Amino acid sequence: MALLLVMVTACTPAGPRSTSAQVRVTEDGSIPKNESISLDDGRHAAIANLDPELLTAMRKAAADAKLAGVELRVTSGWRSAEYQQRLLDEAVELYRSEEEARRWVLPPEKSAHVTGKAIDIGPTNADDWLIQHGADYGLCQAYANEMWHFELLTTPGGQCPQPQST
Ligand SMILES: [Zn+2]
Repeated sequence: MALLLVMVTACTPAGPRSTSAQVRVTEDGSIPKNESISLDDGRHAAIANLDPELLTAMRKAAADAKLAGVELRVTSGWRSAEYQQRLLDEAVELYRSEEEARRWVLPPEKSAHVTGKAIDIGPTNADDWLIQHGADYGLCQAYANEMWHFELLTTPGGQCPQPQST
């Protein structure tokens, strides 16, 4: 155990203090606004806690998208229930309406992000690509008003259900 700690410290250029800060930031799965991470960033809780089936499908899609010159970036993945609640609270404050906020941010018990079964992808050209080709991997746009939010909603090569209106 002591040896392991020494090795971890030795491999971290910025030192142990910034390491623990980084873990604290990412362990609820949060990704700062206007930032995105790679599907290969398996150390980030947003990726690490995704449903393995969803992650595998997304990585396959991303590899094929890359061949078409499109990069799929993750703007949100798994979220802790606390983080989901925080997002909802922020949305309620922003829209000054619980009802309007819930059109965009579901409560923790209803969000597929909390169970690791949803992923948000950007930028827009990546969303366009995935809306067009996602069904080949079982990936579907789940909500009509969120072109970035994808879930496994069909079998690979199947047909996606109509995105839900909220
Ligand atoms: Zn989403």
